[in-house]
Amino acid sequence: MAEATSRGIGPVILLGAPGSGKGTQAKQIVERYHIPQISTGDILRNEVQRQTPLGLLAKDVMARGELVPDDLVYDMVAERLRQGDCESGFILDGFPRNPAQAGWLDAFLEHEFFENVDSASRGKCLPIVIRIDVDYNQLLRRLTGRRSCPVCGRIYNLYFHPPRVADQCDVDGSKLVIRNDDREEVIRERLTAYESQTKPVAEYYERKGRLVSVNGDLPVDQVTEQIFRAIESHRVVTTGPQ
Ligand code: AMP
Repeated sequence: MAEATSRGIGPVILLGAPGSGKGTQAKQIVERYHIPQISTGDILRNEVQRQTPLGLLAKDVMARGELVPDDLVYDMVAERLRQGDCESGFILDGFPRNPAQAGWLDAFLEHEFFENVDSASRGKCLPIVIRIDVDYNQLLRRLTGRRSCPVCGRIYNLYFHPPRVADQCDVDGSKLVIRNDDREEVIRERLTAYESQTKPVAEYYERKGRLVSVNGDLPVDQVTEQIFRAIESHRVVTTGPQ
């Protein structure tokens, strides 16, 4: 079989609070590197919807806002990462959620993944972890300022992208509404939960020298630039039969 060389960017883990722009940045990475974005929350919601055995086990736990037991999530993630589209890299969103999951992921990747990578590059197959840091008050403004039109779905922000007439949709004049989970008290709770959940994961990767922080207060394209630069400096060349 012919030896081929392919450029892979390896696993990317994105950490970012609600309102940090994580979704937008993930989209940029997907478009540029043609790798899939894997969201454990999305997979689990899909399992719940299809009422699979995993979905039935996860449903109540998710409804309570708690974490699904690690073992169930490991099987699900392993199955997804073994699919062909993950070969040269993938973005993980929502996983790992705790240091045990991070340790499991390292072991899984070392034993099962990137098996064609030469030993000198092995360290580079481990995930690069990018945390998008945004000032707390900025996050609050981004989230609490959000208003949407119940008719056409258009999204506004009172601080950054206000409607022309206060509280009215520019397109159809409908009265703008605030989503339930965009209310300030809910938002403060979501931000606190994010902080306490993510901190130990970020610390795990920081100890291993794999955490890169980017300044998420900057304009979107500058944040994207920082992320691409971090990924490029981590990039790995894989060799092997293809
Ligand atoms: P998310 O969309 O990432 O906020 O996830 C929604 C819900 O799915 C969470 O509240 C958890 O119940 C569950 N979940 C998602 N990812 C994980 C994970 N890595 N470990 C355990 N539970 C998870």
